Amino acid sequence: LEDQLIQAQKMESIGRLAGGIAHDFNNLLTPIKGYAEFLLQDLAEDNAAATKVERVLKAANRAQTLVQQLLSFSRKQILEMKVIDLNQTIKSFHDIMRRTIRENITIRLFLSDQGYGIRADKNQIEQVLMNLVVNAQDAIGERGEITIETAYVLLDDEYASNHTEVTPGRFLMLAVSDNGCGMDKETRQRIFEPFFTTKGIGKGTGLGLATVYGIVRQHGGNIWVYSEPGKGTTFKVYFPIVDDQLAYEQPALPEEVPLPV
Ligand code: ADP
Repeated sequence: LEDQLIQAQKMESIGRLAGGIAHDFNNLLTPIKGYAEFLLQDLAEDNAAATKVERVLKAANRAQTLVQQLLSFSRKQILEMKVIDLNQTIKSFHDIMRRTIRENITIRLFLSDQGYGIRADKNQIEQVLMNLVVNAQDAIGERGEITIETAYVLLDDEYASNHTEVTPGRFLMLAVSDNGCGMDKETRQRIFEPFFTTKGIGKGTGLGLATVYGIVRQHGGNIWVYSEPGKGTTFKVYFPIVDDQLAYEQPALPEEVPLPV
């Protein structure tokens, strides 16, 4: 497996541009939807035109969903950073993941014995988990396995000197693996770009991993991908450890963290 450091510096500016367009688009969709709804109310159900207006509405709704995803991707998030126990977050989120993922896919958890504190916004971490797990599902065919693992990792000076963008330190690694279709090198190099998708029009937005990347960077973390066609994929996220003795429920320190430039 080839390990690969992700460099995606241009993508944030693309994201911001897209966010601007999405905002204007959203404003345009409001009257389209509104008048289509009025029109529908005016028409009797059995009117042939009603079906056509319904199609307009449906398309406008889809467009709005897409635009909203775009907006939430490019919007500066107000992060609510707290010291959290990632293992605890994974455990309490397991139920929701389980219900989202197809039944014939197994989700296994391998969590570090000890809990480590990372400074994070719980909702954002859940978004990372959900995006990675749903992608894993999409990569798996009929049946397969997703594993979620956490482990303490010490990245020492030697490691850091061999890897650009890595600062040495103590990290909590979150790995999400699947035994799905995997990716070739060309795909691997582009996955964090906004709008890059291989899932086809109407299926993928290409925003999942761009969002994940943004969140991880906002948390001072790094993300790496290991993938081989036909074998599967592992995403490894490294979060700096801030606390060995977990302090739960620390007072929230809301702060506005801009997207990395
Ligand atoms: P989307 O899911 O909408 O396509 P993403 O940004 O989440 O957008 O993913 C981009 C692309 O990365 C996917 O279309 C797919 O080609 C590839 N990809 C992501 N996760 C995996 C995975 N676990 N296995 C194989 N390919 C993946």
